[in-house]
Formats: sequence, structure tokens, C-alpha cells
Amino acid sequence: MKVLLANPRGFCAGVNMAIECVERVLQLKGAPVYVYHEIVHNRHVVERFVHQGVIFVNSIDEVPQGSTVVYSAHGVSPEVRQKSNERKLIQVDATCPLVTKVHNEAIRYARQKFTIVLIGHEDHDEVIGTLGEAPDAIKIVEDVDDVDQLDIPSDHRIAYLTQTTLSLDDASAIIAALRKKYPRIQSPPKEDICYATTNRQTAVQKLAPECDLVLVVGSQNSSNSKRLVEMAENRGTKGYLIDDVSHINYDWFQGVSTVLITAGASAPEDLVQDIITQLQSRYGATVESRHVTEEDMHFELPVSLRKLERQHAEAPV
Ligand code: SF4
Repeated sequence: MKVLLANPRGFCAGVNMAIECVERVLQLKGAPVYVYHEIVHNRHVVERFVHQGVIFVNSIDEVPQGSTVVYSAHGVSPEVRQKSNERKLIQVDATCPLVTKVHNEAIRYARQKFTIVLIGHEDHDEVIGTLGEAPDAIKIVEDVDDVDQLDIPSDHRIAYLTQTTLSLDDASAIIAALRKKYPRIQSPPKEDICYATTNRQTAVQKLAPECDLVLVVGSQNSSNSKRLVEMAENRGTKGYLIDDVSHINYDWFQGVSTVLITAGASAPEDLVQDIITQLQSRYGATVESRHVTEEDMHFELPVSLRKLERQHAEAPV
């Protein structure tokens, strides 16, 4: 068996930054630390933090007055920030800057009285947060059928935005349908689908046709990980999304000689290495690392965390 190891894979700059935020708040404040929504959509990352005393909440009402709350990489709506203000919470904002960029675009278009078509999955934390910036101006579409159902008056100015972790295949079909229906639709100067989503999908797009099977390490609620499986299957190679080595079903490997392994943007690398070790010991697999795109993105820690660290350093002992 040959294993092709996709590069880039795994943690992106936004996930690294969000995880470091929680680690630093834990160091500063000690447990418990409250995090609004899963910090990133990965079961192992979340469970590791739970063991260190992090409490993940789905409502700001669950955070005791005056405590510190960290917002996840997916961002929050202004309503959530308002609730935190009312409860006098110290807010550390680990929203990925590329998600914040989409929020800012929504605010700008809404101020200019555009109707905004947001391409994304309506139950995803990121889309819920973006929608909250301009709920009266935004209409969500998930697929081409939703575009057909849109009924925007012809005198409205229209723009589209996208969730950062969409499938490149689906997004281009939806955008084509929007452009056909609304030829004057506008879009931001730079693509909203983020560099990490694009690079991981492009690697699968290029490498999957050489393989008999694709294993994507990631959790079921991770949008960008699910899109990697779809990308493989759209290119004719069977793919499975697995949280870790224990989720492997060895029947999948019957007649398989080349396996592509990749990981979603929120999946830790040690889980990938466990799978490789298992395939080496069970099948004598050889491993070939394939670099499709170089990546060196890094995001600074948020101002809200820096401020908290400064206050802590200056506090009398
Ligand atoms: S997947 Fe993209 S948008 Fe999401 S955290 Fe990573 S870099 Fe940011």
C-alpha cells in the first residue's frame, strides 16, 4: 500500500490563533474558562480543552456575570456581543480575521442599501454570526435551487458574499446561477472562500484521481472537512471523514493500493500520524508527501487578548 500525504492539510492560521487564545486565557485566568461555541469544529480539540477546565456554552446566559468568555473562530453576531456587555463579561475575540472580513463586507453592503445574498449553510455558526450583522438585508442560499427561489425586486442593488469554508465546486455553480439571474450582482474585490479551504480542496482535487481511497481527518460538524470528502468523490474517488484511527473500517481497504490522507483545517496533526502508523504496521504502507501549494499564513493574536494580558501584567500582586 502507498499512502499519499496531502500538503497543505490540517490546522490553518485561524485555528492556530483561536487555540492559542484559549490556551493563553487558561494560563492567565485558570479554569474554568468559558468559550462560546466550540472553539473550532473538532471533537478532539474540544475534548482536550474540556479536560483542562474549559466550559463550552451555546448561550451567553450560561456564562456567570463578570467572567471571561472567548468567542470561537467562527465569529459571533452583534447580539451576542451585546448580551456579553449586559453581563459585564470580559470578551476575548478569537474570530478568524477572514471571517471578520466577511462581517465587514456585510456591514458595508447593508449600509449602502444592497440586498446581500449570502452563500452558505444556514445552520453553521459562521453564517449565523454573519447574518446577525444585517439580518434585514441578507438572504441565505445553500444551492442552485435556492437561487431559483430568490425573489429580489429588479430595482434593488444586489451583492453576494460566501461562507469561508464552502466547496469550490458548489460555490462556482451557485455564483454562476446568481450572475445569470442577476447580471449586475456585485461581489467583494477578493474571494471570501479562505486560502486554507481553497488550498486543502485544491490538493484533494489534484491528488484524488491518483488514489483508490481518500481519508479525511476531521469531525462531522467541520464544514471544510466535509467539503474535502465531497471534492474527492466529485473526482471519482471514494472518501471517508474520520475523527481518528478508531473510526477506520478495514473493509474500506479491500483492493486498495493507494490511499490519500488529508485533514480539515481544525484537525490536529497527531491524529493524522496515528493513522499513518496504523497503515504502516497493518499493511506495510510506504508514505509519500505531496506538496500542492506552499502555505505560510500567520494571524496575530487579537487585540482583546493582548489587552487582557497587559492588564494582568500590570495588576498589583
Ligand atoms: S478555515 Fe479559513 S476562515 Fe476558517 S479559521 Fe481557518 S483560515 Fe479562518
